[in-house]
Amino acid sequence: RSKDAGGGTFHCYEPQLHVQAEERRVLELALRQAVANGEMHLNYQPVVDAGTGTLTGFEALLRWTHPELGTISPAKFVPLAEDARMIAPIGEWVLRTACTEAMRWANPVRVAVNVSPEQLHNPAFVTVVASALANSGLPADRLELEVTESVFMKEGTCAVRVLEQILDLGVRLSLDDFGTGYSSLGYLSRTRFSSIKIDRSFVTQASKGVREAIAIIRAVVALASSLGMATTAEGVETEDEHLMVQQLGCTKVQGYYFGRPLPVEEARAVAGRSQEAAAA
Ligand code: C2E
Ligand code: MG
Ligand code: MG
Ligand code: MG
Repeated sequence: RSKDAGGGTFHCYEPQLHVQAEERRVLELALRQAVANGEMHLNYQPVVDAGTGTLTGFEALLRWTHPELGTISPAKFVPLAEDARMIAPIGEWVLRTACTEAMRWANPVRVAVNVSPEQLHNPAFVTVVASALANSGLPADRLELEVTESVFMKEGTCAVRVLEQILDLGVRLSLDDFGTGYSSLGYLSRTRFSSIKIDRSFVTQASKGVREAIAIIRAVVALASSLGMATTAEGVETEDEHLMVQQLGCTKVQGYYFGRPLPVEEARAVAGRSQEAAAA
């Protein structure tokens, strides 16, 4: 970046690396206190049936508002928390909060919680899930955990065993961001997922007419359906995208077209209205 004639690449890049490392250090330090300081909260994004538009649940999405730094995206701080080995306590707070808040919805729809690989590499995580259910009173079948393909990448961990024990509790599993990782189909036969979430990138590409993306969505839907799994299209932003993924056979949809991630009270109102609509 520097135009300094004498400066080699090493000197050009070092200051920037330093800033990044400094920002990381500041965020990491702030993150250590974030839960205790009450800076975290959850938003809930509606997930609806692709055919009927009926609400089937909400995905809990973590939000961090730092008093000075402002709102920080989970796309930024979740990887940081994972690297700094801080995701387990944060993830436990997310799980307990989501279960407790979901208990207050008039419509007993499902709540989906994102879980990082590191949480599943710890055998004690099963106890955390069981205790979050017991303390909140949420029935196990209303909880769904979203895991990504990366959980299967690390060799010699207990993740598959932990997932089995979570299934034994009656909790559902879904495979998040499908197609973006090192997609290997082996684990689809080893772990019982209820649904596969097709990453937004495929939906966006397909709606632009990219044939490969359309073919991939079609293939994932066929694979999921023959394995008895549902498919959720992520990031549906327009009516055209909704019609497209519906025609391709996706069973559920999620995206700004149906609703943005909402503060808990608004999600509660949405759940209440959908309950009234169902009763009418
Ligand atoms: P994800 O689990 O794939 O969540 C979906 C992301 O897509 C969310 O971003 C959501 O706000 C966004 N999204 C939903 N619909 C649309 C749409 O129509 N258009 C666009 N452009 N975006 C849409 P968000 O909330 O920023 O979260 C980003 C990622 O951070 C999540 O991706 C997930 O991997 C991670 N994350 C969020 N909360 C948690 C958490 O509690 N624990 C862990 N481990 N990870 C989390
Ligand atoms: Mg997710
Ligand atoms: Mg996703
Ligand atoms: Mg995604």
